[in-house]
Amino acid sequence: MSYQNPKRPVHIDSYENNGNLLNPSKKYVCIRLWLPEGAPAEVLSENWPDGKEPNIDREPPSAVVELISEKLERAWIDTSREKKREIIAWCRQNAAMLDRQWVEELIRREERTIARAQRKIVQLQNELDKEEDAPSCDHGIVFDEAVALGLRNRDVRERFPRLSGPCPKGCGIDGIVYASAAHYIFGGGSDWVS
Ligand SMILES: [Zn+2]
Repeated sequence: MSYQNPKRPVHIDSYENNGNLLNPSKKYVCIRLWLPEGAPAEVLSENWPDGKEPNIDREPPSAVVELISEKLERAWIDTSREKKREIIAWCRQNAAMLDRQWVEELIRREERTIARAQRKIVQLQNELDKEEDAPSCDHGIVFDEAVALGLRNRDVRERFPRLSGPCPKGCGIDGIVYASAAHYIFGGGSDWVS
């Protein structure tokens, strides 16, 4: 199935504004229906006094168009009424398509949320891996393989002692630990005795 991201996804939003120039302290809520390519306008919107706006949660475009139309016809003066009526007529004709594209956009938004969460999970996982890769305690054990090559096993054990007991650096390890497998072998392997 092919897929094209629309340039103008159908969605509904709202914002607060001071719509009334004569009374700038009065707040309005503008509800907007964003229309797709091919529509007679990019957006159909209407203002309601703050607190009087209809609830648009989960309302599809076909319902929001009716809310806007109802408000428009109630208004005393609306200089853009004719233009808005034309847009509303187009929306009604294309209601099924608008409702469908609106759901498609909601799906895209949820998918983006998932993608963001997945990126976050990978990021956190990387941080965890980094912590695991961080140099852990060497328990104060020193071993130089180049030096050890020229020494007898006994001298290696004396010069480069293994840890036997609690770690002097206090990491909590308590036991017998070598710097590496080479440390164990150059020290005589099973000849190591505490
Ligand atoms: Zn340690």
